[in-house]
Amino acid sequence: MSARRIDGKAAALALRHKVADGVAAFRETVGRAPGLAVVLVGEDPASSVYVRSKGKATVEAGMDSIEHKLPDTTSEADLLALVDQLNNDAAVDGILVQLPLPGHIDSAKVIDAIAPAKDVDGFHIENAGRLAVGAEAMVPCTPLGCLHLLKTELGDLTGMDAVVIGRSNIVGKPMAMLLLGESCTVTIAHSRSKDLPALVRRADIVVAAVGRAEMVRGDWIKPGATVIDVGINRIASDDGKSRLVGDVAFDEAAEVAGAITPVPGGVGPMTIAMLLRNTLVAAHRREGLQDPQL
Ligand code: NAD
Repeated sequence: MSARRIDGKAAALALRHKVADGVAAFRETVGRAPGLAVVLVGEDPASSVYVRSKGKATVEAGMDSIEHKLPDTTSEADLLALVDQLNNDAAVDGILVQLPLPGHIDSAKVIDAIAPAKDVDGFHIENAGRLAVGAEAMVPCTPLGCLHLLKTELGDLTGMDAVVIGRSNIVGKPMAMLLLGESCTVTIAHSRSKDLPALVRRADIVVAAVGRAEMVRGDWIKPGATVIDVGINRIASDDGKSRLVGDVAFDEAAEVAGAITPVPGGVGPMTIAMLLRNTLVAAHRREGLQDPQL
């Protein structure tokens, strides 16, 4: 392996310490802790694990964690009523409704009901629009985490060729907007793109957010490029168990790239750290304070 391994775990820990310092300063100034409300509908095991670790991290950062666990029979109207209540709760700075929601609930309707200022996931259409026009926005946590890693690794990104593989509203599109905001030349590739290897070979920065195990091969990578692997894929391993891999064939790509994130331990830990960061930022904005320097 010749590439530097980008340590997302360490970067996330450092950011969480900074957020905790920011929370302490906020409490001192405002006289209360920032509050994050997390809503879980149903008992999806993966979602339950995410919600538990988000709650734990929130408390560790010194913030209030307000958890609402609702049965999967909850009606859309009742969920919308809860969102409305949280929108109007002065102790709540951030609202996160864990996705996916049960099939009888329209996720888009629920996300649209969240007050944009409290939308710490950054999924509300107003925040997507604000990000697209370069206005102050709440930005989705995963791409924000990727950008943090890229800027720490590379410094100024101006003029770099970036290829984002994947065009989801949660990762690919906001990632592309963030890179455009850093004055990169951005290509968004997706399942209908032609000659993906050739597109990727041009890139100084590759962000893979596809959900296909080890799809991006080593010979797609331009020598010295920085590779950010968002994918989380579980595959069978030789010992009969299973293991997590990214969207990039790590061992191959690491021979060619300048720097690369591993899976696990790369982008994943940054997502929760950015959720805490977004909650602290939302709290500052609601109180009319300047954004904390993080
Ligand atoms: P998604 O399914 O919503 O989007 C996948 C995108 O990949 C689509 O835009 C599609 O066009 C594109 N795609 C599919 N097949 C392709 C192909 N053969 N060639 C090129 N593009 C192709 O997924 P998502 O929500 O954006 O998540 C992507 C991956 O990132 C998943 O593995 C997910 O688990 C992971 N993820 C990780 C984190 C984290 O915290 N690390 C957060 C969110 C998502």
